[in-house]
Amino acid sequence: MTVSSMSDRFSALGEEWGRGSVKVLDIYRGTTVDGPGFRTSIYLAGCSHHCEGCHNPSSWDSAGGRSMSLAEIAAIIEEEDFDVTLTGGDPLYNPETCAHLVSLVKALGHEAWVYTGYTWEQISSDPALLAGVREAQVVVDGPYIASLRDPDLHFRGSSNQRLIDVATSLATGRPQPHHP
Ligand code: SF4
Repeated sequence: MTVSSMSDRFSALGEEWGRGSVKVLDIYRGTTVDGPGFRTSIYLAGCSHHCEGCHNPSSWDSAGGRSMSLAEIAAIIEEEDFDVTLTGGDPLYNPETCAHLVSLVKALGHEAWVYTGYTWEQISSDPALLAGVREAQVVVDGPYIASLRDPDLHFRGSSNQRLIDVATSLATGRPQPHHP
């Protein structure tokens, strides 16, 4: 599928579609470390949390990485045909872009996980942040806390971080765990 035909197909995603750009640090194809199964992991630039012991401080600069259009990213997601993880950096550094990407993943028939330094409680009480993840399957929440590091945890670095099932958390009004 060409970029222009995908642009037509997903024009409902908004006028940013195909024109707007996203600052991408890296895209890993077929990775198994950022969620269950083989996944396409998209590392986005920008993070304001500045956790001590962060695995990737170079990701904090929102001007880092390279600009990619949503259409270019869509082409990679379609080519790989995996569920997608948005990480970084913190995808919620720019909640609107995060929302566009999650909508894109859903439109392509896949599920999205979002890693963020915000807690679910912060997200769910802030309409802008919540809009960024509302369509995601899972939010992996909270800052990395070095003193709580646990290498035995699946898909997260420290024990304060949780795998939050977004749909059931929104339905119940409380953070609900996701069991991959
Ligand atoms: S939220 Fe993630 S990327 Fe941001 S400082 Fe913390 S560990 Fe690093």
